[in-house]
Amino acid sequence: MKGALKYTIYKISILIITIFLVSKYMDRDEYTLSIIKPDATSRNLTSEINEYFINNGLRVVEQKATTLTRAQAEEFYAEHKARPFYNDLVEYMISGPVVVQILSGKDAIAKNREIMGATNPANAIPGTIREKFAESVERNSVHGSDSAESAKREISFFFNYDEVTNK
Ligand code: UDP
Ligand code: MG
Repeated sequence: MKGALKYTIYKISILIITIFLVSKYMDRDEYTLSIIKPDATSRNLTSEINEYFINNGLRVVEQKATTLTRAQAEEFYAEHKARPFYNDLVEYMISGPVVVQILSGKDAIAKNREIMGATNPANAIPGTIREKFAESVERNSVHGSDSAESAKREISFFFNYDEVTNK
């Protein structure tokens, strides 16, 4: 075989392998942190809320019930420290048990935000969790990571990130 032909075949093979690896990488599942908040756990809504995730193609891959300490709630919501609702939010988040969970699936971070609905239930579209269950802008039933960076930070806050995402 001529050298030039061999080289072309070599280049095409590298291209095919690259396309394969890139498409596999883009297709991989995402992971996001969800919290079923105290207003929802107190009304026993965990199973009903989980149905929203499952029916929309997300998997609940980790789940544990816990009650946040004040220090945990303050740190988890540190980005909102300067906001007027911060102190009330922390009080509310430690007022009862929560269920922290990892959801996975294609585009899980954005998909979960869609399933949750707007922060203020008055603006949440029908068919979303917050439209159905939220009691107010504060007592809005669920938390969901808002970006890939938040998801990594928030999953690591409650779980061993590498252990879960490398399964
Ligand atoms: N929150 C509140 N009052 C507000 C805005 C937010 O009590 O005016 C609470 C609410 O529980 C919300 C949380 O603070 O879910 C975090 O706010 P964020 O803007 O991050 O909303 P989310 O990402 O939860 O939709
Ligand atoms: Mg947020």
